[in-house]
Amino acid sequence: MAVWDFDYSSVSSIARLLQENGLVMTKKFGQNFLISQSALERITALSTAAPGKRVWEVGPGIGALTTKLVRSGAEVTAFEIDHGFCRILREQAFTDVDNFTLVEGDALKTWKEVWQKQGTPDIICANLPYNVGSIFIASLIENRCLPPVMVYTLQSEVVDRICAKQGSEDFSGFSILCSIDYENTCAFKLSSGCFFPPPNVDSSVVSMKKRNNPLVPTEDAVKFLELVRILFAQRRKTVKNNLKALGKPASDIDKALEEASIPQTERAEKLDIAQILSLKRSLWS
Ligand code: SAM
Repeated sequence: MAVWDFDYSSVSSIARLLQENGLVMTKKFGQNFLISQSALERITALSTAAPGKRVWEVGPGIGALTTKLVRSGAEVTAFEIDHGFCRILREQAFTDVDNFTLVEGDALKTWKEVWQKQGTPDIICANLPYNVGSIFIASLIENRCLPPVMVYTLQSEVVDRICAKQGSEDFSGFSILCSIDYENTCAFKLSSGCFFPPPNVDSSVVSMKKRNNPLVPTEDAVKFLELVRILFAQRRKTVKNNLKALGKPASDIDKALEEASIPQTERAEKLDIAQILSLKRSLWS
C-alpha cells in the first residue's frame, strides 16, 4: 500500500495542487478542508477505524481525513461529488491502494446502492459539507442504515440539535430521530483555523454510538417517525393542532392525547420519546 505523502497541513501545498489541476474550491459544496493534523488524528481515533472494519467517508475532498482512515488499515469507501477532487483521489492520492474505494457523485443519491451491495458499514466518519450533513444523517436513520459508530464534523448548531435534550431550545424532530438509536455527544469543538478556507460558522465533532436497545422498538419505528414529523411540522403550534394533519376525527385525537397523558395545549418540544411512543400507540392501536 502506497498512500500519498502530501502535506495536508500546508495551505500553500493545497493551493498549488488545486492550481496544477485547474481546480477552485466552491462554497456550493461546502468545501472547507481540515488542515489541523491534531484535529484529524483525534477524529480518526474517535472513529475506532482499524483493520477489519468497513468505513464510509462522505466528502473526502483531496483526502486529508481519508489518508488517516486508510492508514488505520480499515476498508474505506469514500463518496465525493466534485469530479476534480475525484481525479486527484484516483490518480494521485490513492492509486493502487487496496483498501480504498471511491464512489463518484452525490452521496445523497449514491449511498443506498452501495448499502445494498456492501451492507451497513461499521463506521461512518466524515467532515460533512454543512449543507448536506443533517439531510444525510436523517436519510440513513429513516432508512434504518444504522452503523455502530458515526463521527461527524458539522456546524456546531447542527451538533447542538443532534445532542439536544427534551425541553431545550435546540430540541427538534431531528434530535429525536438521532437519539432513538444513538447516544450522542459533542466530542470537541474546532476553531475556524483548523480549516482551509476558514468557515464563517462554528464547527464541532459529534460522536454517535449505537444503543444496544433502541428507545423505540423496531415494530413501532415507522409510525413513530411519521408522528414525529407531524408533531414538529409547525413548532409554534400545539401538539393537538399539528395532529390535525393526520386527518383523524377530533374525538380520536383528544382520546389519544388523554390516554398518553399529554395536555391538549402542549407543544412538541416538551414531549419526551416515551410520551410520543405512548401517543403513537394510542393513535394506531
Ligand atoms: N474531508 C475533507 C477534509 O476534511 O479536508 C473535505 C471536507 S469538505 C467540508 C466537504 C467535502 O464534501 C468536499 O470535498 C465536497 O466536494 C464534498 N461534498 C459536498 N456535497 C457532497 C455530496 N452531496 N456528496 C458527496 N460529496 C459531497
